[in-house]
Amino acid sequence: MKIALIAHDRKKDDLIQFVIAYLPILTENSLYATGTTGQRIIDETGLSVHKFRSGPLGGDQQIGSMIAQDEMDMVIFFRDPLTAQPHEPDVTALIRLCDVYNIPLATNMGTAEVLLKGLKEGFVDWRLIRERRG
Ligand code: PGA
Repeated sequence: MKIALIAHDRKKDDLIQFVIAYLPILTENSLYATGTTGQRIIDETGLSVHKFRSGPLGGDQQIGSMIAQDEMDMVIFFRDPLTAQPHEPDVTALIRLCDVYNIPLATNMGTAEVLLKGLKEGFVDWRLIRERRG
């Protein structure tokens, strides 16, 4: 599975804690991230992560491009709902593409836990989701 990890600045500490908590399952998958988020994951967990540009510099759009090319399987995006983002249109576009292509998307830790537990336990037939994406 190809999993994208993104966190707005005030959510990055939460994402790092989350990644540490789910390290065993995340290690078994291919990880992608926007630039600053990815660098923090690498520095603080030692995981191997493919880094795109920073979010405000196009990183969210690069992940959106992977979705449009059927190359991304899950997005975990810890958004900050209390702070205006200069690249809000990119954030909206990324979320929209997840809905267009039926990509499992978590925008908070609660949903992210459900997705990764589902992945770990095999609750979800990812093959069927892929087929539904067409
Ligand atoms: P960043 O981007 O990981 O480079 O901070 C995240 C975002 O704000 O979309």
